[in-house]
Amino acid sequence: MDYQKIIDDLHLKYKNAVNKGKIATYIPELKKVPADKFGINLFTLQNQSFGAGDYQEKLSIQSISKVYALTLALKEIGEKLWKRVGVEPSGDPFNSLVQLEFEKGIPRNPFINAGALVVCDILISNLKSPKVEFLNFVRKLTNSKDIYFNEKVVASEKKYGFVNAAHVNLMKAFKNIKNDIDVVLDLYYHICSIEMTCEELSRSFLIFTNDGILPYNKERIISLSVSKRINASMQLCGLYDEAGQFAFKVGLPGKSGVGGGIVAIHPDLYCITTWSPKLNKKGNSYIGFKVLEEFTTITQSSIF
Ligand code: GLN
Repeated sequence: MDYQKIIDDLHLKYKNAVNKGKIATYIPELKKVPADKFGINLFTLQNQSFGAGDYQEKLSIQSISKVYALTLALKEIGEKLWKRVGVEPSGDPFNSLVQLEFEKGIPRNPFINAGALVVCDILISNLKSPKVEFLNFVRKLTNSKDIYFNEKVVASEKKYGFVNAAHVNLMKAFKNIKNDIDVVLDLYYHICSIEMTCEELSRSFLIFTNDGILPYNKERIISLSVSKRINASMQLCGLYDEAGQFAFKVGLPGKSGVGGGIVAIHPDLYCITTWSPKLNKKGNSYIGFKVLEEFTTITQSSIF
């Protein structure tokens, strides 16, 4: 399979395609990113990297970080986590408050904002220095020290994060948040603000391609069972209320963020990451989704 040619061709085709998406404006700092940024990277289990466009430029990973948070929290407390967060698709937008009251403060899954906020609460209860340890965990998965929080993005989200604050307050009332509300929001905004390249994102997600083992040093990070479950959660919930379309059209577990990144995992062969900041109505990258759909069609690598 000539992955480089396939990626180059897709990059060329979609660089000039009509883009009906819109940049996320509710986080003012994200508005500053040029809308025409576009990168694709594929990283294989054989340690080969294929990239096109802006795949070595940093992007705001936003909700993609929720996968690292879940992984680290499962390492810390294991199965107990599922008493406080569900595993069902929400069918609602990532920041919707609607189900949370009916379901008594237990978020549907770890990838909507409410779920990730509970996961952050768990990390705070279990880690000595949550921010430092979180960043070190992501650096370890990526095999790179060059990964940082963006404090401007943190400040921007804090200033306008009324809905996230509403989520934490509601869950605190239902006793599903144990720590101080501001401390939970602070960790959540920090993990969302991390900046990575498409190539770093693909590389860091390879543990989910490799049954929980880091390919570069063969260290087991999570068990086979946990790795499978995280992939299952990404398949069902990783693209929020568009997860069904993503399974239907792309056919791989994946996770998106409002910075315009999408990571998709083939649980045997590769990770692929796309970046194009303009989002569709569900908050997922408009062009990224199309590129991934065409990629799995051409390579016949949907898992179904
Ligand atoms: N930080 C963003 C928020 O809380 C993350 C959302 C996303 O990427 N879907 O709204």
